[in-house]
This record gives sequence, C-alpha cells and structure tokens, in this order.
Amino acid sequence: MPTHEVFNQPPALTGYDVADDPAMLSALRREGAGWAEDAVHELGRLAGSAQAQEQGRQANENPPKLRTHDRFGNRLDEVEFHPAWHELMTVAVRYGLHAAPWRDSRPGAHVARAAGFYAWGAADAGHCCPISMTYAVVPALRHAPGLAGRFEPLLAAPEYDFGLRPAEAKRGLLAGMSMTEKQGGSDVRANTTRAVPADDGSYLLTGHKWFTSAPMGDLFMVLAQAPGGLSCFLLPRVRPDGTLNGMRLQRLKDKLGNRSNASAEVEYDEALAWLVGEEGRGVRTIIEMVNMTRLDCVLGTATGMRAGVTMAAHHAAHRTAFGRKLADQPLMASVLADLAIESEATTTAAFRLAGATDRAVRGDEQEAAFRRLALAATKYWACKRAPAHAAEALECLGGNGYVEESGMPRLYREAPLASIWEGSGNVAALDALRALKRQPESAEVFFAEVDQAAGADRRLDQAVIRLRKELSDPSEARARQLAEAMALVLQGALLVRHGDPAVADAFAASRLADDGGFFAGWGRAFGTLPAGTDTAAIVRRATPGLA
Ligand SMILES: Cc1cc2nc3c(=O)[nH]c(=O)nc-3n(C[C@H](O)[C@H](O)[C@H](O)COP(=O)(O)OP(=O)(O)OC[C@H]3O[C@@H](n4cnc5c(N)ncnc54)[C@H](O)[C@@H]3O)c2cc1C
Repeated sequence: MPTHEVFNQPPALTGYDVADDPAMLSALRREGAGWAEDAVHELGRLAGSAQAQEQGRQANENPPKLRTHDRFGNRLDEVEFHPAWHELMTVAVRYGLHAAPWRDSRPGAHVARAAGFYAWGAADAGHCCPISMTYAVVPALRHAPGLAGRFEPLLAAPEYDFGLRPAEAKRGLLAGMSMTEKQGGSDVRANTTRAVPADDGSYLLTGHKWFTSAPMGDLFMVLAQAPGGLSCFLLPRVRPDGTLNGMRLQRLKDKLGNRSNASAEVEYDEALAWLVGEEGRGVRTIIEMVNMTRLDCVLGTATGMRAGVTMAAHHAAHRTAFGRKLADQPLMASVLADLAIESEATTTAAFRLAGATDRAVRGDEQEAAFRRLALAATKYWACKRAPAHAAEALECLGGNGYVEESGMPRLYREAPLASIWEGSGNVAALDALRALKRQPESAEVFFAEVDQAAGADRRLDQAVIRLRKELSDPSEARARQLAEAMALVLQGALLVRHGDPAVADAFAASRLADDGGFFAGWGRAFGTLPAGTDTAAIVRRATPGLA
C-alpha cells in the first residue's frame, strides 16, 4: 500500500525548446541572423531534451580525472572524461559553436553562432569553455598567417576528435589559453615563463601556469617572456613528430562549479611553441582572443539567467501554496517578473554585442569602437548580476531549489565564474574606463547608439544625462558605478527600442528611474518592482511551453 500520494510537484521540465525565447529570437533577427532560426530551434529542442539534461547532470557528477602517468610510469598527461562530456562536445562541435563563423562568410554568422551557444549552453556550462576558447583563438592566430593557414581549417572543422595525436593528424582541433601564473592573472606582465628561441625559428618554453582550462585541447595560446619581451605563442600538446610536448599537467583544480570541465595547473619544460605576432606584443595579440571569450562570458551569463528564470517560472506555474498557484501570488509574480526583466536585458545586450562582433569582424570600425566600450561595461555588470539572480531563482523553488537534483545548485555554483575569468569584475570595470580614455570615439558611438532611443522614455533620457555628467570626470575608484551605469543605460535603450513594452517599462521604472526613497522605486533585492508593473505579461514570456 502506498503511504501517500505525491501531488503539488511540477512536471519535469524536459521536452521543451530552450530557444523558444522571445527576447533572443527577436534579437537574432534584428542582428542579421534570422536565417539561422531553424538550426537554433533544433539546438534548443536538443538542449531541452531529457537526454541532454541527463548528459549535463552526468558530466558534472562525474568530473574529469587527471591521468599523469600510465601503469608503467610513463607520462601520459591526459584527462579522462565521462562519456556524457564527449556527447555534449560532439553536439557543440557538430553545430559549429566552436568555429562556424570562421568558415561561413554570411553576414550574421557570429550572431547565429551566439544564438546556438546561448541555447545549447543550457545543457551544461562546463563544456562551453573549450568551445568558447576554440572560437576565440582564430583572430589571435591570424597574427601568424603561416600557422593560421596550417591550423585554422582544422580548428573550424565540425569534427570532435578527442585524444593525444599530432594536430595535423586529427580531423578537428580544440584550443585553450594559458596566461595566468601563480603570482598574477590580471597582471600578466608579471609572467615568468621563459621562451628561448631555437635554431629553426621555433621557441622552447619553460615555466608554469596556475590555471589552464580544458588542458585536453590540442593547441594553446601561451604567454611567455621572449628576448623581446612578453610574447604570445602557439603551443601544441603533441609535437608534429608524434611525441608528447613538454606540457606537464600537475593537478586539476577542485572548483566551486564548472565541474564537468577540467582546469589544470601546468608546467612547461622546454615545450615547443611558435611565435604568434611580434615579440614583445604578446598582450596585444592574446587580447584578441580574450575579447572574443568576453562575449561568451556575457552570452553564457544570459543562458544561466534564462535557465534560472525558466525553471522558477515553470515551478511557480504548477506549485500551489495557500490555495493559489505561486505564479498568481502578487509577490511571487513580482520576483519572477524582476528575474525575467534582468534576463531579457542581459540577452538583449548580449545579442547587440554579438551583432557588433559580426560587423566589426567584417571591417566596420564604428561597431568595433562600440564593442570595445560596451562589451567591457556589459561584461562587468551582467556577470555581477548572475550570482544574485541564480540565488533568487533557486529560492523560487523553496527547499527543492537547494537540492542538487533540481539543477539549481549547479546553476548557482557556475554563476560567479564568468565574472572572474577573462577580466575579473574590477578589471572589466577599469577596462571600460581605459576605453573611454584611450579611445574617446568609443564613447561617441556608445552615446550615438543610446541616443537612438532619445525621447522614447523620460526615465531613460534622464539616466543618459546623469551618465554623461558622471563620465566627464571618470575616476578609478568609481569605475564600478560608471560601468554599471553604462551597462544599464545600454540595456534600457535597447529594450525601449526593441523590447517587449511591459519589460521595457518595468526596466526603466526599476533600473533607470532616479526617484530615490524606499517605496517610490526599486528595492535592492529582486521582487521589488514598482506598483502597476504588468508582471503577468512579463512572466508569461519566461514560462516554458511543454510539448
Ligand atoms: C575556473 C577557472 C578557470 C580558469 N581558466 C583559465 C585559463 O584557461 N587560462 C588562464 O590563463 N587563466 C584561467 N583562469 C584564471 C583567471 O583568468 C584568473 O583567475 C583571473 O584573471 C584573475 O587573476 P588572479 O586569479 O591572479 O587574481 P588577481 O589578478 O590577483 O586579482 C585578484 C582580485 O584583484 C582585482 N584586481 C586586479 N587588479 C586590480 C586593479 N588594478 N585594481 C583593482 N582591483 C584589481 C581583481 O578584479 C580580483 O578581484 C581561470 C580561473 C578560474 C577560476
């Protein structure tokens, strides 16, 4: 005899289309990649399938293991993964999330790839790291045309080919980035890894790296001190002759989240590497890679926010408390709507930046200048919001949200990471200030973008006036306020012009209005939207339709 009936629990959130996401889809079309909609929906349905969700769970619950040696004591320096990891990687690579825009000249190709990355990332965030680094390596690698000619076709191939073999003997390659040392990650000028020129034009690298994610990749961009100063190198894990390169994996990090992915400590012992760009210009060269991964930090954060609010809205649509559905309780509706607004604002800005990337890659200098400033500010602010967003989404599920199998703890542990790597919070905010000072044209195009929304919303207009005033005297100690304000104004301008009217209005009322006072405006926690917000309409946009 059953002891009780199970009821008032929501149905499993599987079998839905992650890409059924109005803010993302309208941005996809607006930014020139409407042609990719079918493929994005395909990936969205895959990501929302029970199978992909199970793969994501398994890949995280069976984290990678380092195999430094084989049973006979020979060095192996290999990482062993659960089969679910390989399945996730296979899909990501097959859909070109690691490189498709580099072999597809259609305008909008980077936006299409951004949408795929955004949708498929819902299955698991960890494997998006090597996918992102492979996508990002190409612009930096092109500083060495000979190497780009050799390796770019393999980096861009839609073939996932895992294993320790020489790069040119593989069907497809993955890339990583190796900059951070024990004594400094933000300040890479402190790097001590040495690069000694060899007779044949290559270099031998000796030193260490404190963080190198996805060490099972094939090629790594490494910073090291050459005779001419800090320089960027391409380092293969296996030498062309088939022997292991001098790249020793010391340990894998025991990380807070991102557990499906491997992040290693590495030692280089006379490791073969080839110069990329000029000696002494290593930071300028590798920054091209960092700038591409920063876009993915924003996209990945948008994915996490969308996943959080979707799970929360789904739960609230099915769970009853005190005689009413949670979603119909005014205070819960305010929490969910606030989470949805944050998620839509982040997604909208992320896709504007993906569009700017697409146009900048095709030679549009205005868009490159816009991207320079807007990406730094948005990376700062979007990533800063992620942990608070994940915590609030988790709480919408009550106790269930704190339990591992809900998926919420994984989302929560992942949330702080995008703010740390590729320029930690302060560094990203300071980078926005640096762009303002060194490239004043980036401020001009930024305001030209924002001014396109002028007159549409009084609160936005006033926020822009305040921002212009503050930016006239940017001080380092206030870099966070300035980056936050820039990011909010950009999000507001985009939503006012292109967003859902209820979302845009609530965004301006909560994030832009300068009405001070506890009860007039927005509080400091989510769920404090001003009275009169059309919460039901907003929450509807975040509630998944199950097949
Ligand atoms: C999971 C994970 C994976 C990673 N993978 C890689 C990888 O693949 N390759 C790689 O090269 N690195 C990787 N990193 C390292 C990462 O990029 C660095 O941790 C990051 O850049 C910060 O460097 P740091 O840890 O040395 O901290 P520090 O540079 O010491 O910074 C510490 C704090 O000081 C702040 N700070 C720094 N400078 C200033 C300043 N001028 N003013 C005010 N505040 C400042 C920072 O914002 C930060 O909050 C990874 C890190 C993690 C957590």
